[in-house]
Order: sequence, then structure tokens, then C-alpha cells
Amino acid sequence: MSSSNLLIGPHVSIAKDISLAPVRAHELGATGFAIFTKNQRVWNAPALEDSSIRIFKEKLDEFGYDRRAILPHAGYLINPASPDEELWEKSLGLFLDEASRTVSLSLDTINIHPGAFKEGDRIDGIKRSAKMMDEVLRRTPGLRIAIENTAGAGTILGSTFEELDAILSESEEKDRIGFTLDTAHLFGSGYDVSGDPDGVLDQFFSRFGKDRLFGMHLNDSKVPLASHKDRHESIGKGLIGQDAFKAIVKREEVRGIPLILETVDETLWKDEIKLLLEAGA
Ligand SMILES: [Zn+2]
Ligand SMILES: [Zn+2]
Repeated sequence: MSSSNLLIGPHVSIAKDISLAPVRAHELGATGFAIFTKNQRVWNAPALEDSSIRIFKEKLDEFGYDRRAILPHAGYLINPASPDEELWEKSLGLFLDEASRTVSLSLDTINIHPGAFKEGDRIDGIKRSAKMMDEVLRRTPGLRIAIENTAGAGTILGSTFEELDAILSESEEKDRIGFTLDTAHLFGSGYDVSGDPDGVLDQFFSRFGKDRLFGMHLNDSKVPLASHKDRHESIGKGLIGQDAFKAIVKREEVRGIPLILETVDETLWKDEIKLLLEAGA
């Protein structure tokens, strides 16, 4: 593991078996990585095999991955802010399942989008989202939730620091809630992480403090500042540009937390990891 304690790597596939994920990350030279804990497109997936869980943990140890270097991403079917009671309950069930998978893999943090409030009131959506976080945290001892910022398309919550703060404020389990900052989503929502990456991060830290940043998603963007769209690009090939990412990995506050690439061309992952590890060394 790099002495700079930069935990950088892609969101790797769990195809065939989840225990292959650490192997895939290691082969790319990643010092951290993300996974889905199950097929993210279906509501019901078979439970993780005991043998898969055991081998997954063995591989983490074999390759020297600290547990905090891995940031599972909850599936996109979950909508914590859904105004439809049945869908909200269904989302809760799935989130609980993914939360327990996370803990069974010996990991302690799961990344989730705050959800879309659809028709109805924004404030009610914020309350429903916070309530789901609380339910999952109460029923999953040892878990932390990283709420991811969004680009804010349509009724999607969480595109501003104010709104992330509003969700946190509604929660009764604040000690176990933090955030993941996605650079492409920051840019899409109007934070100029290209022109002033340090300023944007300073703004986050002055509101929330360093300890609320549980991870980052380092993605360049195909779409302009404040477009409220979410289209990832490879590092340095988009409208954010390479210099911003080099500035981010030099920050003290991003050491020891997972910095995940969700970039579009996986043939570039190895080079992207190397570039960022070197820039932050
Ligand atoms: Zn995400
Ligand atoms: Zn995105």
C-alpha cells in the first residue's frame, strides 16, 4: 500500500463471484475499490455464499486492502425518498439486504443516493430519505451510510451541500452518516470543481468538517457546469480536466478514504490509478 495512504481504484465487477472483485482491483494496481453487493438491476438476488464471503475476505487480506478502502455502492432500484409507500417499503427491504451483505463482507460503509421525491413535496422527500437511513442504521449494527451528492436532475435530492445537510439534520442517527462527493455530480450541480477544486472542498469541510467525508467518486464530466446532468468521462478527457483531480488527491483530507473511479473506459483504469497515485504521492 502506498505510503501516501491514497485509496484509489475503480468500481469493479462482481460478475461470476463477488470474491473476484479484490482480484480484479489488485490486478489494476488499485489501492481501494467499489462494488455492488449484488446484481444492481434486480430486486431479489440469492444470498451471498459463505464460501464467497470467506474468499472475499481472504483476498482483501492477501492484497493488503484495509476494510475502509472499499466502498460498496447500493443499487439504483432503491429510492429512499419515494412518495409511494409500497415502493418506499420495497426500497427499505432491498437497502437492508444490501446493508447486511456489506457487513457480512466485513465492510462498514455503504454508499447510497438520497433518492428522488417525485410528485409531492421536497421537504417530505428529505424526511423520508432521512427516515430510511435511520431505519437501516438501527437495524444494521456497525454500519455507516455515505450519502452521495447528486447532479440534481428532476426531483433528485442531494445536489447541494444545504440539502445534504438538511437530510443529515433530519436524521436521528447522525453519528453514522457521512457523505460521498462525486466530482462529476458536483460539476453538474454547479460547483466549479474544475476552476476551483480546493474552494469547493473547503466549502464542504467548513460546513461538515473533515470526518463527514466518507469517500469520493472521482469522475470527469461530459456535460457542462450546472447542466444538472450526470454523464461521466475518463479522467482528463472531460470538462473538469486533469489538473482538478491532481489538486484533489494532494489534499490531506482525502487520505484514508476510498477515492473511486466510475469512469467510462475501463481500459484506462490502470493509467488513471497510476496518474492519481503519483499526483498525490
Ligand atoms: Zn452513485
Ligand atoms: Zn454519476
